[in-house]
Amino acid sequence: ADALAHAESLIRTVPDYPEPGVLFRDITPLLADAGALRAVIDALIEPFDGGFDVVAGVEARGFLLAGAAATVAGVGMVPVRKAGKLPRPAASVSYALEYARATIEVHDDLAPGTRVLLVDDVLATGGTLAAAHELFAELGVVVVGTAVLMELEALGGRALVHDVHTVFTA
Ligand code: 5GP
Repeated sequence: ADALAHAESLIRTVPDYPEPGVLFRDITPLLADAGALRAVIDALIEPFDGGFDVVAGVEARGFLLAGAAATVAGVGMVPVRKAGKLPRPAASVSYALEYARATIEVHDDLAPGTRVLLVDDVLATGGTLAAAHELFAELGVVVVGTAVLMELEALGGRALVHDVHTVFTA
């Protein structure tokens, strides 16, 4: 609990990034601290102990957490990438951002029935994780859990991504 409190204290709030009016949660100081990183990785996967076959992470910060979580859990890692980055056939889902659309993709070679733990750094409006859920549903792959380091409660993302496990809330 002490290690988690310390980890939380290492998340910086940066005003007006990437645009005026946005309060950006910067997790890089947490990532740089060995004890904090290990504590949050353990807390991310703890409720799902043994119940997943791979960890999927959303580009780009989700990769950092998903790779570490997969290693600690002793399973593999699947990258959910932005459009056009994967070399082989991929499932693809487009979703609305505030002023634009985004597309995320995952290789279509996951075996049906694979149990996926889906991980990202921040839950804001929920659009990204909801799209990732759609992506795995298209492949017939079961997302057994969704875990984020930080939920920004005021943005209401939980309405789009039910049952999300969050380590910190703000
Ligand atoms: P959403 O789709 O839930 O609105 O936004 C979540 C996505 O945007 C996540 O992939 C996350 O990395 C990024 N994001 C949104 N706000 C923040 C923030 O304050 N800090 C960080 N680190 N990422 C954010």
